[in-house]
Amino acid sequence: MERKVRVRFAPSPTGALHLGGVRTALFNYLFAKHNGGDFLLRIEDTDQTRYVPGAEEYIIESLKWCGLTVDEGVGVGGEYGPYRQSERKDIYKKYALQLVESGHAYYSFDTAEELDALRKDCESRGETFIYNAANRGKLKNSLNLPAEEVQRLLDSEAHYVIRFKMPEHEDLKLYDIIRGEVHFNSSLLDDKVLYKSDGMPTYHLANIVDDHLMKITHVIRGEEWLPSLPLHVLLYKAFGWEDTMPEFAHLPLILKPVGNGKLSKRDGNKMGFPVFPMEFTDPATGEKWHGYKEDGYFPEAFINMLALLGWNPGTDQEIFSLQELCDLFTLDRVKKSGAKFDPEKTKWFNHKYLIAKPDEELAELVRPYLEAEGLPYDARKVARICALMKERYSFVKDLYEDCRFFFTAPTEFVEKDTKKYWKEGTRELMSELLDVLKSIDDYSFANTEKVISAWITDKQLGFGKVMNPFRVAIIGAAKGPHMFDVIEIIGKEETIRRMEKAIAAMQA
Ligand code: GLU
Repeated sequence: MERKVRVRFAPSPTGALHLGGVRTALFNYLFAKHNGGDFLLRIEDTDQTRYVPGAEEYIIESLKWCGLTVDEGVGVGGEYGPYRQSERKDIYKKYALQLVESGHAYYSFDTAEELDALRKDCESRGETFIYNAANRGKLKNSLNLPAEEVQRLLDSEAHYVIRFKMPEHEDLKLYDIIRGEVHFNSSLLDDKVLYKSDGMPTYHLANIVDDHLMKITHVIRGEEWLPSLPLHVLLYKAFGWEDTMPEFAHLPLILKPVGNGKLSKRDGNKMGFPVFPMEFTDPATGEKWHGYKEDGYFPEAFINMLALLGWNPGTDQEIFSLQELCDLFTLDRVKKSGAKFDPEKTKWFNHKYLIAKPDEELAELVRPYLEAEGLPYDARKVARICALMKERYSFVKDLYEDCRFFFTAPTEFVEKDTKKYWKEGTRELMSELLDVLKSIDDYSFANTEKVISAWITDKQLGFGKVMNPFRVAIIGAAKGPHMFDVIEIIGKEETIRRMEKAIAAMQA
């Protein structure tokens, strides 16, 4: 029987969710939705030493902001809970013991100091120490110690770990959906710790047990987990769960915008772009990180950009709604080579989403900026401004800041612009223009353009000679859209008020 597709996003709450993590969540989500399956959120918090308070909430909030709705898991619930591994602690021991019993795992009593000494000793001879078939025969574990001694140590509550017994000299041919066949030589792999005597499983054990119990069909995760694949597959075999073993897909790395290597959170700070979906303050260091949300990105744009980091639709189309992505997404269009992150392209996506927004909706986004300054909000006026101006911007904040002059008269005039455009005689010329402006009643673009152009022609003046100082008077700087648009929007009264003020203020 075909199993229902079930995938999980399984982050460890060790800090803010990097955009690579969001991409992993996104690809899981898209795969689930494309296949009519479930998208689970499991929190892998077995490593208490790396636990960061607030990280779990951050992950949940980030997924929400991105619109990636979780079907089952932490914060949602479901039949296979609990979904936080620290709350599943009691489940894992029995599985670890099952492997000891079946001979796939063993107790190891070596102390950290002993192992350290061995490592150093090997290094001094230019060798690498691996805890596996090469060395396990000489070490303090239940494979070598007499059974009574093992029992005595266990009874005395000595510190121990349970290790997986990695087979020797096996050429493992494994299958990854994205990479195809991948080969591993088991002799190069170590006997990973599965369980510790403090009652906590390690990532490997908890991950496999939970994927099995939660009926996960596909494991889609970052490339950094590819080296764990042989152990994971061998664990499935050891448990006798091969029939329902999930398929694996390891996603390509996200690379730095310039140079080589994986995109790190430091790159963002260095190059001025966020690597996190939302702002994050590290509780340990107080260090604050930018977020796409607070920096003014639309979640749709952020998601669209992420979708194309490693996946392509096979066409030239670049703009996709989340629904379109769900419809189109397949793992066979995910490439295996790294995907270069491009902060400029991310801005471009935001621009595309900004200009595609209905003007009324954009106006609503401008509203809080006006309100923060105690300026009145006129929905129709703001929508008109958005329609006129949006082509130029990638962010609502920039649009607002550049368009402030529509809402409030300039309090100062940019010096270099006044120097350039207010010359001898300009004040007189502007006074004459003011009379013309006063005489006009219909401030529509078409009408003011007609009347003022006729006046300019009549006086045999250059267009720029009039319009440039006019612009500086109304806007405060030599910038902005067409002046006839500006005065149509601000209206007659405000135009006259600004002109009078400028004429009084200007030296020339
Ligand atoms: N807890 C792992 C992580 O933080 C999950 C890896 C996996 O998906 O198996 O990425």
